[in-house]
Amino acid sequence: MKKKTLVSSFSENPLIEFQSVLKEAMDILNYSVEAYELLKEPIRFLTVKIPVLMDNGKTEIFTGYRAQHNDATGPTKGGIRFHPDVTPDEVKALSGWMSLKCGINSLPYGGAKGGIVCDPRKMSLRELELLSRGYVRAISQIVGPTKDIPAPDVYTNSQIMAWMLDEYDHIREFDSPNFITGKPLTLGGSYGRETATSKGVFYTLQLISELKDIPIKDMRVIIQGFGNVGSYLAKYLYDIGAKVVGISDVLGGIYDENGLDIPYLLDRRDSFGVVSNLFDSSISNQELIEKECDVLVPAAIGGQITTRNADRLKCKIVVEAANGPTTRDAAKLLKERDIMVVPDILANSGGVIVSYFEWCQNNQGYYWTEELVDERLKEKMTTSFSTILQTSKTYGVDMKVAAYMEGIRRLVEASNYRGWIKN
Ligand code: GLU
Repeated sequence: MKKKTLVSSFSENPLIEFQSVLKEAMDILNYSVEAYELLKEPIRFLTVKIPVLMDNGKTEIFTGYRAQHNDATGPTKGGIRFHPDVTPDEVKALSGWMSLKCGINSLPYGGAKGGIVCDPRKMSLRELELLSRGYVRAISQIVGPTKDIPAPDVYTNSQIMAWMLDEYDHIREFDSPNFITGKPLTLGGSYGRETATSKGVFYTLQLISELKDIPIKDMRVIIQGFGNVGSYLAKYLYDIGAKVVGISDVLGGIYDENGLDIPYLLDRRDSFGVVSNLFDSSISNQELIEKECDVLVPAAIGGQITTRNADRLKCKIVVEAANGPTTRDAAKLLKERDIMVVPDILANSGGVIVSYFEWCQNNQGYYWTEELVDERLKEKMTTSFSTILQTSKTYGVDMKVAAYMEGIRRLVEASNYRGWIKN
């Protein structure tokens, strides 16, 4: 019988995590209590019920959420996740992190996030289409190209974005490719959007290789998660000659200190990124995280590195490709052990950066080459990385707090100009 080591969701409350680092960053910047009160939770939060006629003839009522964190700097922006463990607090925290990602990269957006409590692995395509369309009908009043622009996230992809776009176009009775990003190319998607998050993480690893003087070809990397982000990242690293010594999926992980055969794994992965069932010698996700490597990249889901395992990690650097994989207390333990943590809101912001490029192209009606998208993505990631590194040195804080500080500046300034707060 195969070990079942399903990746669990956040072990701590992510909203409390978000609020505690936000407070720390805002205190350093001497921001007012009102500013913190405004930003500690979304300005808008909607809960919806979505009835779906299932293939077995019964109607199931799904619960969905949309959180809009702050729209002082522009319309809100953020993905929609389909996952059984989605909670209101998780969606709220994720919307706050989206605000910070947009702030760090000077994108003219505030953050948003959506989620539906469901298990897409157990649903047919027909059921998923009805659920996607039902969700758009339920939230249609608060979203739109200049209000709130959705995108893919955990277990959602370009097909789901296409159904959502089609539903929105029917409701509005005109074509609005700028309503949603992460679309298929033929519906106004952008070159490089599907690979954007992993490319951004890859550029981050290149920057770290220079900073820490570890040639990328000698880098030994473990990637937790083999979905959209983890699988493309593994490919880029393999192609450049780095050693991917471990990967995992929702069922378990595989580790080989000589490096894994990534093309073979990519060829065999199923649509949910599962490969570990091909091997008898698979280990659990938790065991994989604790294996030796230079860089550990949690690229699955939140709450994976906690006080329960932080003292057993054998990596030199953690690059957070998932949202919220390291708890704050765990990050403190890692800092004491001199393990650098490159925060999620910086490392995985490639996705929203290219979503912004996609939205610009939709607004212009003029489409860019893949080379141009990549070049501009790299430029933004490099600038943001060095700004945050500099802030962390100037203020003597870790990169997470520095990233929050950089992410929050524009939101506070814009809220100030609008007369919402006096800072
Ligand atoms: N879901 C991705 C994220 O968490 C992308 C969001 C977007 O493209 O709007 O950053």
